[in-house]
Amino acid sequence: MRAGRCSPGESGFVKEVRSKLLVVALGAAFSMGAQAGHVPAKDLPYPGMLTLKVDLTDAPKKIFRVHETIPATPGPFTLYYPQWIPGEHSPSGPIDNLAGLIITANGKRVPWRRDLRDMYTLHLDVPAGAKQLDVQFQFLSPGEGGMFGASASSTPNLVDLEFNQVAFYPAGYYTRQIKIQPSVTLPRGWQFATAMEEQSHTGASTTFKPLSFNNFVDSPLVAGEHFNRVDLDPKGDVPVHLNVVADEADQIKLTDQQLKQHRELIDQTNKLFGAHHYAHYDFLLTLSDHTGHFGLEHHQSSDDRLPANMLTDDKSYTLMASLMPHEYVHSWCGKFRRPAKLWAPDFNTVEEDDLLWVYEGLTDYWAGVLTTRSGMWSTEQYRDSMASIAAAMSARTGRDWRSLQDTADAAPLTYYGGGGWGNYRRGTDFYPEGQLLWLDVDTQIRQLSGGKHSLDDFARAFFGRDNGSYVTRTYTFDDVVSALNGVQPYDWKSFLRTRLDYTGDELPEHGIEHGGWTLVYTDKPNAEDKAAEGLRHNVSLAYSLGLSAAKSGNIYDVQWNGPAFVAGLVPGLTIVAVNGKDYSPEALKDAVTLAKTSKSPVELLVKNVDVYRTIKVDYHGGLKYPHLVRADGKDLLTVITTPRK
Ligand SMILES: [Zn+2]
Repeated sequence: MRAGRCSPGESGFVKEVRSKLLVVALGAAFSMGAQAGHVPAKDLPYPGMLTLKVDLTDAPKKIFRVHETIPATPGPFTLYYPQWIPGEHSPSGPIDNLAGLIITANGKRVPWRRDLRDMYTLHLDVPAGAKQLDVQFQFLSPGEGGMFGASASSTPNLVDLEFNQVAFYPAGYYTRQIKIQPSVTLPRGWQFATAMEEQSHTGASTTFKPLSFNNFVDSPLVAGEHFNRVDLDPKGDVPVHLNVVADEADQIKLTDQQLKQHRELIDQTNKLFGAHHYAHYDFLLTLSDHTGHFGLEHHQSSDDRLPANMLTDDKSYTLMASLMPHEYVHSWCGKFRRPAKLWAPDFNTVEEDDLLWVYEGLTDYWAGVLTTRSGMWSTEQYRDSMASIAAAMSARTGRDWRSLQDTADAAPLTYYGGGGWGNYRRGTDFYPEGQLLWLDVDTQIRQLSGGKHSLDDFARAFFGRDNGSYVTRTYTFDDVVSALNGVQPYDWKSFLRTRLDYTGDELPEHGIEHGGWTLVYTDKPNAEDKAAEGLRHNVSLAYSLGLSAAKSGNIYDVQWNGPAFVAGLVPGLTIVAVNGKDYSPEALKDAVTLAKTSKSPVELLVKNVDVYRTIKVDYHGGLKYPHLVRADGKDLLTVITTPRK
């Protein structure tokens, strides 16, 4: 999973997160310890087959109607609503959006009771003579607010359906042993895409071939009025398609160059890993300004949701380009090979997130590399991206108390930790600092082996097996160390642990320096930062004045102990005026530049709820933006991002 690069840091985003935080905290609390209400799972076939009908006719009104049948035998019975959503790494199943639940058997109502210590578990008694339960409910698809799969998922023109949101399953069985046959009814004239295989089609309804509950949850569907499907591997043996839905017809078309780059992505990724783990693959790309923005990985598809202008605006395309490479890499790193404790027999068993610096960090590293190898980014754009990441991670004041390891261990908290202070509380740093960690590993292998070996060899050894299989193979920390040793003998355990467990004020990764580059700061933003500021209309002065603010003046981050902090500024305040004139991002930057050659402080009028106050920030260092400049040694960053032959 990855958040869309346009959403974090926005003030609205913070509010969304807060509204959801309580639900997640409750979910986590109810599932701790001995997992109250949890029925141990058997790895045996569940008798019979579930059926599921999802009526999406009212998807434009955000109402999904569900009718499910579940074979059952008379007596006590437990139903689960999926709680731990693969790829979301959190107990985040959006059960609060479910309403109208009525369960019947042989036409009669069956009373149900929720488990008092597990909100995702229902208990009931199947009446004598009954052979199945009929379960009906509506999923009230969220509007504003919510995170990831629980964010806005439909508009008047399109819908993104994650099946974990619209199905219960019987407790007590491995979900790979539960069979289900789904069907979906769409608004008239809408087209759809999914990795599921079609069995039959009547009017606007499609029935899919039966599949395991695991593969069902792993195969979302997108549909819309405006739909485009392009072949990304026309000469390959295994079909790979990009399916686009959008609110407007002119938002779904790829330019010839974009098509070429996405075809290169398939080629370069397969060259990197040397085997694939799907029978066919579908990118499900939603381009809309009215849905959440993020990506969620699956074995044979990915649910990729980005802003409406992703294909039509060059800057937006560059900023968002690495999302689909990230989700595609997950088919190998995350779905096929998965940390052992991130594998679970069902969707209601607690997962442990301690190896997310591999699952997400290594995926993010290769996403950047493959975005460049496929031509979506130039090597300069790759370096800009790494400069921005290295600067952000260097300025993580929270490293003093929270290790990189803890950002992964606490993922159900760090994903949802809004409310400002990003630099001090740290967030999901296992993505960006994970990239720096794996660059450190890659450059170390290259240096130790005199350029003979690289992380590409690890990719092939660790992920490039069982060609065509999408049966998950799990791994542990020791397996990662052992595979690295197979590529290049070294004390990888110490190498990784000293970086993962480090607390202090220095960035513990040195891949950029080992790659022949140095992080420097100038008064001009790099192209990526400039484009990001242009799209968000915000101002990021983390490395100079020590704060970041929205166009509205709302301060959403302040560097702990930085100049703005020392002067008395904190997140949540609103800047109203700068040096006696109306606030704007440009006015604030001009004031910082002016103070460089003046003894006067930057004077800000700020509003705290209904109290106004003037704050003087005594900072004279000028604007500072990160860049990479060439240093001594071989230019490994260019070597790493050069396309494979
Ligand atoms: Zn991811």
